[in-house]
Amino acid sequence: MKLADTPITQHQFDDIEFYLKRDDQLHSHFSGNKARKFMALLEQPHEQIKTLISYGSAQSNTMYSLSALCAIKGWQFEFYVDHMPQWLAEHPRGNYRAALELGANIHVTGQSDLHPETYIKQVRQPDEHCLVVPEGGRFAQAEHGIAQLAREILSWTRFEAGQKFVVALPSGTGTTALYLHKHLAAHGIEVITCPCVGGKEYLKQQFVDLGETSFPTILELPFKHHFGKLYQRDYEIWHELKQQTHIEFDLLYDPMMWQCLHYWYPENLDKKLIYVHQGGLLGNESMLPRYERKYGVFSQHEEW
Ligand SMILES: *Cc1c(COP(=O)(O)O)cnc(C)c1O
Repeated sequence: MKLADTPITQHQFDDIEFYLKRDDQLHSHFSGNKARKFMALLEQPHEQIKTLISYGSAQSNTMYSLSALCAIKGWQFEFYVDHMPQWLAEHPRGNYRAALELGANIHVTGQSDLHPETYIKQVRQPDEHCLVVPEGGRFAQAEHGIAQLAREILSWTRFEAGQKFVVALPSGTGTTALYLHKHLAAHGIEVITCPCVGGKEYLKQQFVDLGETSFPTILELPFKHHFGKLYQRDYEIWHELKQQTHIEFDLLYDPMMWQCLHYWYPENLDKKLIYVHQGGLLGNESMLPRYERKYGVFSQHEEW
């Protein structure tokens, strides 16, 4: 199976003109940056492996993508979470619902008081038939699939010689931005990102932990922004993006990057922006009802 070569489309958001790398369209169950990060696992045989083990949030895109990978590979999938929100347990939706449907075994480690990573080591004790993937796919194996994404972007820019391209994407672990930077910097393409989880220093540490020494450019907002918190401005931006581009973006990461880009853009009018759509739309199925309960529902055509 070869998953690659997603389209690049052209759009405008407010006064920002941009190209969009449609990695949300990679595959119906295995898409976005998680698919790129786990592409090496998909492509390599791994004959001795029977069970894939990982951990993180019960709403995460990683959990869903790994469930899809395991369904394709015929592996068992175990996912460890330190807590399970009651509303989600009662009404499975989004990534959680889809992971369950794909056969994921989701374990709550909460009562043991051990971090899921420690729980896996000390209690689960994986053997040689298990493959353990760190939270969010923050591992060196991710480079293989992200390098392919970089090659696709690069070969597309070659049709527009003489332009100064900048690739933009929000960071969680920063793995995607880091490896894109590693494979694009030498070709004169800058990668810009923003730290959605923790701040700039935290993101830099994540880069360092992956063993690299050259990093993408980190943009920041002039105010604090906490991961997973429901901000009215994020909800508005997400809606405006959808109204203006007719494309649905992710609700958890993308709104912060677009806020950063509104500050960045006026100083960088000479550059051509390529935004990477990293997928994650199934996650909106659990995020959107929470926003709607807090700030109300947007009607179809109305500005809010
Ligand atoms: C996981 C994810 C990110 C963050 O990716 P990192 O490689 O961890 O920085 C951003 N956007 C979406 C939609 C994601 O699913």
